[in-house]
Amino acid sequence: MKPTAQRLTPLGDHFFATLNHRIAAIKAAGGDVIRLDAGSPDLPPAAHIIEVLARSAECPENHAYQPYNGTSELRQAWAGMYSRLYDINLDTELEILPLLGSKEGLFNLTQALVDPGAVVLVPDPAYLTYAQAALFAGGIPYYMPLLSQNDYLPDLKAIPVEVAQRARLLWLNYPNNPTAATASRDFFANAVEFARQHDLLLCHDAAYAQVTFEDYHPPSLLEIPGAMEVGVEFNTLSKSHNMAGWRSGVAVGNRQALAALNKVKVHADSGHFRPILDASAAALAGDQDWLVGRNEIYRQRREVVLARLGEMGLQARTPRATLYVWFAAPPSWSSVAFAELLLEKACLSLVPGSIFGEHGEGYLRLSFTAPLERLEEAMQRMAGVVRTIR
Ligand code: PLP
Repeated sequence: MKPTAQRLTPLGDHFFATLNHRIAAIKAAGGDVIRLDAGSPDLPPAAHIIEVLARSAECPENHAYQPYNGTSELRQAWAGMYSRLYDINLDTELEILPLLGSKEGLFNLTQALVDPGAVVLVPDPAYLTYAQAALFAGGIPYYMPLLSQNDYLPDLKAIPVEVAQRARLLWLNYPNNPTAATASRDFFANAVEFARQHDLLLCHDAAYAQVTFEDYHPPSLLEIPGAMEVGVEFNTLSKSHNMAGWRSGVAVGNRQALAALNKVKVHADSGHFRPILDASAAALAGDQDWLVGRNEIYRQRREVVLARLGEMGLQARTPRATLYVWFAAPPSWSSVAFAELLLEKACLSLVPGSIFGEHGEGYLRLSFTAPLERLEEAMQRMAGVVRTIR
C-alpha cells in the first residue's frame, strides 16, 4: 500500500490503545487487573434517561438521519442547564452546537481554525487531544507548564508576546484532567483579557464541571463579561451523567467559532442517533438530584484513596472535582517506571503523568472509577508494592 498521508506522521501511538492491548494480554494469562486508568464512569446513567432512550428507539421514524445540529429540544435542554447553573442565556440556534462527544468538537474546531504554522497554546500536562489536533492541522503547540506551585494554572504572562501574537487558540480545562485542579473566576477573567489582547480564541473544556465534591461549584468561562466574544466552552454528558459511551457533548459560546466548527462537522459526520438526542435532552432537563448521590459515591472513594496514599507516604492534594487523584510517585521513581511496576507486580493499572506532557513527570493519575471494595484492594496491592521499594 502507498504510505499514509503526511499529516498522520506527527501523531504518536495512542496511550490507551496500546495499554488496552497490554492489559488484554495480562488478562488472557489469568491476571486479575484492576483498572484505575481511564476516566470512564463505572456507574450507569439514571434510570429515567435509559427509559427515554428505549422508548425513542421504538419509534420507527427515529432511525432516520437527524439534523446536523441535533434537535431543538436538546439545544434547549443545554440552554436550560447553562441558565440553571450559571445564569447564562444562550441563543439555541447560534450559540449551542451538539457534538458526538466533546472530543470530536475539540478536534474538529482545531481543524476549522488552525492554519499550518499557527501556534496553539496548550497546557502541560493536559488531555492529549488539544496538542494532537493542533499537530494534525499543521499547527505548532506551545506548551504552558501547569506547576504545583502555581496551583496548576498556566502563567499567561510568561508566554512570549511574539508567540501569543501567532497563537490562534488557547486551551484551558478546569476542573482539570489530569491534575484535578480548579480555576477561579478571576483566573478566567485574566484569560479573557489575554484572548482579547492577542485576538485568539479561548477554548475552555468543562468536561468535569458537574463531578464535584462538598458543595464546590466551578465557574463557567461564559460567566465572565466579554467571554462570548472570545470564547467557546465544551461540555459533555460523559462524566456528568455517566454517559461516556453515548457520545453526547456540546460546544457553546462564540457564534463565528461554532459556525466554523459546524462547517467541518457537516462534512465529517451526520449527527446523532435520535434516541441519544432524546435521552440526552432528558438527562439535562430531568431530575438532577441523583447527581448529588453519585458525587457522594465518588467522594467516599476519593477519601479511601487519599487515606491509603497518605499511609504510604505518597503526596496528593484533595481534589474538589473530577474523577482523579493526582499523586507524586515515590522518590527517585519516574512516573512510567512506577506505573510499570504496579502493573507487573500488582496487576494494577494507573496512568503515568508523563504521558500528559513533560510537566506531568513525577506524578501518576488514579481514576476512582471502581467500587469501594475494589479500590480498597487496589490500594492494598499498591501498599504491598511500595513496601518492597522502601
Ligand atoms: N476533555 C477532557 C479533559 C477529558 O478528560 C475527556 C475524556 O476523558 C474529554 C474531554 C472527552 O470527553 P467526551 O467523552 O465528551 O468526548
